[in-house]
Amino acid sequence: MHAIKDFFASLMLSELIKGMALTGRYMFARKITVQFPEEKTPMSPRFRGLHALRRYPNGEERCIACKLCEAVCPALAITIESERRSDGSRRTTRYDIDFTKCIFCGFCEESCPVDSIVETHILEYHGEKRGDLYFTKDMLLAIGDKYEPQIAAARAKDAAYR
Ligand code: SF4
Ligand code: SF4
Repeated sequence: MHAIKDFFASLMLSELIKGMALTGRYMFARKITVQFPEEKTPMSPRFRGLHALRRYPNGEERCIACKLCEAVCPALAITIESERRSDGSRRTTRYDIDFTKCIFCGFCEESCPVDSIVETHILEYHGEKRGDLYFTKDMLLAIGDKYEPQIAAARAKDAAYR
């Protein structure tokens, strides 16, 4: 029975007509293609882009070298070394992230007790040679310094859900 039905369906070109009707319907529908990078779509405050290390308003690094982010990172992308300062506080002497390993899961950000390591909205970056995506503490702090207003605004928007 199915074979007969299929035979008449193909004879009457019904599949073709259905396909043409679908094409015709979308020909006049509103186009949703975004001309990136000139056009951009809205981003969630939780977008997980390039990482940054933040400071307090007085310039002090937030990071207290607890190493929770290093421990939780499933990709083993974070490397931290620390020392005790003369005032008794603990700070990192090394904080590196290898972005060739990072899977942008956000666990480091979630685990940080002082909102130090965060993921920014930066997605347009690249590396051209081995090592270009290995970011040191100074590089991560520089990103944090440059984008602090945007980082703080995104975290304030998301604060009710954290
Ligand atoms: S986003 Fe995930 S994979 Fe990347 S450094 Fe943080 S914890 Fe590691
Ligand atoms: S970035 Fe946060 S979680 Fe990672 S070592 Fe520093 S304080 Fe701890």
